[in-house]
Amino acid sequence: MRNSFDALGISPPILKALEKMGFEKPTEVQSRAIPHILNQEDLIVMSKTGSGKTAVFGVSMLQLIDPGEPGPQGLILTPTRELAVQINNELRKMSRYTRHRTTAVYGQHSMDAEIQALKRGVSIVTGTPGRVNDHIQNQNLETSNLRFLVLDEADRMLDMGFLDQVVNIIQALPRNRITLLLSATIPHEIRRISRKYMRKPLTIEIKSETKTVDSIEQIYYPVESHKKNTVLNHLILNERPESCMIFCNTRATVNKLQSFLYRKGYKCQALHGNIPQHKRLKTIQQFKQGEFNLLVATDVAARGIHIDNLSLVINYDVPLDKDNYIHRIGRTGRAGNSGRAITLVTGEDIKALHAIEEHIGTKIAKGELPTMKMYNNQ
Ligand code: ADP
Ligand code: MG
Repeated sequence: MRNSFDALGISPPILKALEKMGFEKPTEVQSRAIPHILNQEDLIVMSKTGSGKTAVFGVSMLQLIDPGEPGPQGLILTPTRELAVQINNELRKMSRYTRHRTTAVYGQHSMDAEIQALKRGVSIVTGTPGRVNDHIQNQNLETSNLRFLVLDEADRMLDMGFLDQVVNIIQALPRNRITLLLSATIPHEIRRISRKYMRKPLTIEIKSETKTVDSIEQIYYPVESHKKNTVLNHLILNERPESCMIFCNTRATVNKLQSFLYRKGYKCQALHGNIPQHKRLKTIQQFKQGEFNLLVATDVAARGIHIDNLSLVINYDVPLDKDNYIHRIGRTGRAGNSGRAITLVTGEDIKALHAIEEHIGTKIAKGELPTMKMYNNQ
């Protein structure tokens, strides 16, 4: 069967790799955005979590860059180190039948190893802004041939924390380049800022009444603050998820909750920004491989991370940022799969939950905990 990616003009080695990855046909955002990129246009791409944005830029880049040319030609910036590694792995798969080499650079990773990889020659570099900046400053990363810049999870990248770093990087790049911005959520303000660094960008938006993925069932449980752990334990026993991510608002809560669940005998691990990087990557890798089934995390894991068969997301805390709700629950229900998202809501959080409902254009159903009586004396 001919792979319908070839109707987009994708060359045989890339088609073969996509086939091997099980990509039979382009997703909607892929078939709408890729032709514009191949036409060398700058794009702002907004489509829901799990809709295949990585291949939008991955396939287009591999198609456009020339393996014969020296120096990296493509640069992808991501807000987290885990996402940089994940994207580099995806690119490696997509490029396996081409001569392109790719690498990832990110904080707390061996500088020497990264410099060696860059020296050997790579076509595409994926990294976090701080580390990419370091390599540019130290002249390890040659920018003169870079003609492709991607800001994945662009809104997160350009928010207060990263804007300066990203602007520094952009200033080191040739003007004559293709710039792409992608996210499920790109607020107006961010679009306005980003236009400064793009050439008449076209916006490709897969429009929908709702901002969350429709195949994710969304529920909330009202709960008293001091009963959250007990209710959570009950929920996990009840749901028996194949794998589940549990989001908390602070690192301290993540640690406490992970200890609690561990003591209860669950196979669970914690992920947040205070954990050493090698451990963070190992945790994500083990979770992806199904070596444990509960991951307790801060919003560091809310963006872009893809786990196959993740059936359940639990918000132990209501997220402080409304868009983060979209990204957190978007770890499930990916690539056409279904999923469940459960939010624990204390009395003081109910307003925030209603604000989220309004923001996402979806009503979050109130769930009943059938055996609440058992919690009374705890
Ligand atoms: P997004 O960045 O939009 O959240 P991803 O690029 O991470 O989504 O893709 C989500 C999942 O869908 C990944 O597992 C990816 O391999 C898969 N996928 C992407 N494009 C296709 C396709 N055309 N056919 C089948 N699966 C796809
Ligand atoms: Mg993505």
